[in-house]
Amino acid sequence: MKGTDNQILNVSILGSTGSIGTQALEVIDDLKGIKDIRVTALTGNSNVKLLEEQVRKYKPQTAAAADEKSAAELRLRLADTDTKVVSGEDGLIEAASADKTDMVLSAIVGFAGLVPTMHSIKCGKDIALANKETLVTAGSLFMNAVAENNVRLLPVDSEHCAIFQSMLGGKRAEVSKILLTASGGPFFGRSRGELKSVTKADALKHPNWTMGAKITIDSATLMNKGLEVLEARWLFDVDIEDIEVIVHRESIIHSMVEFCDRSIIAQMSLPSMKHPIQYAFTYPNRLPSPDKPVSFSDLAEMTFYKPDEETFRCLALAKKAGKTGGTMPAIMNAANEAAVAAFLSDKIGFLDIADIVENTMNTFEAKQNPTIEEIIETDREVRTQICQHC
Ligand code: NDP
Repeated sequence: MKGTDNQILNVSILGSTGSIGTQALEVIDDLKGIKDIRVTALTGNSNVKLLEEQVRKYKPQTAAAADEKSAAELRLRLADTDTKVVSGEDGLIEAASADKTDMVLSAIVGFAGLVPTMHSIKCGKDIALANKETLVTAGSLFMNAVAENNVRLLPVDSEHCAIFQSMLGGKRAEVSKILLTASGGPFFGRSRGELKSVTKADALKHPNWTMGAKITIDSATLMNKGLEVLEARWLFDVDIEDIEVIVHRESIIHSMVEFCDRSIIAQMSLPSMKHPIQYAFTYPNRLPSPDKPVSFSDLAEMTFYKPDEETFRCLALAKKAGKTGGTMPAIMNAANEAAVAAFLSDKIGFLDIADIVENTMNTFEAKQNPTIEEIIETDREVRTQICQHC
């Protein structure tokens, strides 16, 4: 049976030129005739050509490029349109708080997403959250702002969308544990010795998901799962000890919730980020999707393993940062972002990523109950220090 939803949704897409952003625009196309979703703002960093194409197709009021030179070029290219082109962090903030916008899809990669997303919340916009680094680094401030401004927060990370859906199967007080699934990445089962010589090309080959470069490397080191533990801790207000990571190679179960009666509720679907994006756009309704259904009779098997936290230390380091709290998750995140950028520029090896994160966490002291300005300053200090060394 075909469903429809008559309510118009105005969305701003922060990071529209990225993997999540482009899939979000595909979801909007897929839903044509079923749900009317209008684009109020689009943002990118330096991919001017794609941003121009998107603006010409979706006709937003505002387009922002974080990079000033790219914005100047975009302004020239779009001179014949009605779209206002803005630049830099102020431009991202303007795009994030456009008057008409009902919902902001936060899909900028990394810490750069924090300030614009916080602005959206303060302007009362509902948030579809893909950018996990915002919650990791400023979880307490972020969740307080969500509550104070009474906005809806819909997780777009597939695991957190699965947990959100599974939570609907019981009451919050009845939850005993979250079972967070992980694909294990391209290097599942390898020893430290075998990881010494892996290349950037090897690390960018994810078995189940096609994603931006940074999250793909995070998946290979298992830092992505560490970030997701902290993301789940804030989104669902659970202790880190009550989040169990399980490697599930097939990525069919996107995560599960165990309730106090030992009943476990899971969300399953073939791996596609279009599912959580669509769910965020249509919640609380479900609308038809062109995604293929799971065929259980064609699935050879579903496997489950304990993660190897000794070889893939980033998972353990992220949990440790979460338990320390304060600015430590921001220290850990900045070290990871700087190390991943250095790895992607062929300046360091794969195993150096975890070493840099660990050394940085040992060097910097965490400050408890930080303000947003202190978190931003911590991020800057950590990056500056790491950039001096690699
Ligand atoms: P991509 O690298 O594909 O895209 C990132 C987007 O952010 C692009 O639009 C890019 O612009 C923009 N951007 C990059 N740097 C800046 C900056 N300094 N200031 C403003 N904008 C910037 O990332 P993904 O789409 O893969 O990931 C986005 C977020 O979603 C990440 O936080 C990731 O962890 C999360 N996520 C992603 C998933 C996925 O399947 N891809 C799954 C779950 C979560 P430009 O193109 O011009 O460089």
